[in-house]
Amino acid sequence: MSIKARARAKINLTLEVLGKRPDGYHEVEMVMQSIELHDYLEFSPTPGKITLTVEGDGLPAGAQNLVYRAADLLRGHRGIRQGASIHLKKYIPVAAGLAGGSADAAATLIALNKMWGTGLSLLDLMKLGERLGSDIPFCLLGGTALARGRGERVERLPACPGLGVVLVKPPFGLSTAHVYQSYKREVSVDKPDHRGMINAIEKNDARAICSHLVNMLEPVAIQLQPAISVIKAKLLQAGALGVLMSGSGPTVFGLTPDLDTAHAVAARYNRRDEQVIVTNILNTGNKAYISCD
Ligand code: ATP
Repeated sequence: MSIKARARAKINLTLEVLGKRPDGYHEVEMVMQSIELHDYLEFSPTPGKITLTVEGDGLPAGAQNLVYRAADLLRGHRGIRQGASIHLKKYIPVAAGLAGGSADAAATLIALNKMWGTGLSLLDLMKLGERLGSDIPFCLLGGTALARGRGERVERLPACPGLGVVLVKPPFGLSTAHVYQSYKREVSVDKPDHRGMINAIEKNDARAICSHLVNMLEPVAIQLQPAISVIKAKLLQAGALGVLMSGSGPTVFGLTPDLDTAHAVAARYNRRDEQVIVTNILNTGNKAYISCD
């Protein structure tokens, strides 16, 4: 039996940096949101090994790939003897602040838990996944959530309305570690009002959601790459209701009332060498976010 899965990207509607912890990670609080943009993965059972092939974007197919590492982690954790042949088709831009690698790892844990019959609960998978990356528990949960700790403690929030999203990914990447290392507490930056954002989500109020978009990593990312602020201005000029850099960047997203308007904004956007992707906020209600078939 082979299994297909979609691994959804995320954006951050808020991101607050609370301070640096003794273990070197930063304590954060953020409202995270799944979007429709996804990678495809296909899993087939094999006798003993894990093999991975990757299509698109020149990512490593070996042990450095988060898909391979997630498969290996689950296998070791449950003493599994079976193997898996995995194919990853990449659509989510890499090192972009969209948690593409974490989404792939989350989809791998869910699919292989099913294929190998390991019987772990979602909570067990979230505990296992956080060993590989702070965003993996959120990617396993999906939807709209408040994340704390280093991002791994997630709590489901009411569903965000299905707004249109225009993603603009500049031609450079930003390393998450480098952005956090460059963040300086003493420089005053706006703090997000998470409660205000959650209230806006509860009221389905797109304008209020847009007026509460704040990412405390954005000023430092703009210092490292000033092009980010140019992209923000161009997206607003093209008609986005609100704009923000996602995660540690460099992708900037613009929100619109619906998908049609997102297409219109993308068409008006004055593109140079950026990649522009139109998608939407995803909320599947009670259905699983990582759909396997
Ligand atoms: P985050 O928002 O969680 O910080 P990101 O979107 O900035 O993540 P990713 O696309 O997840 O970044 O990639 C981060 C790093 O992980 C890259 O340097 C990439 O080489 C490595 N990586 C390993 N496996 C994968 C994968 N399956 N997809 C994407 N990147 C991967």
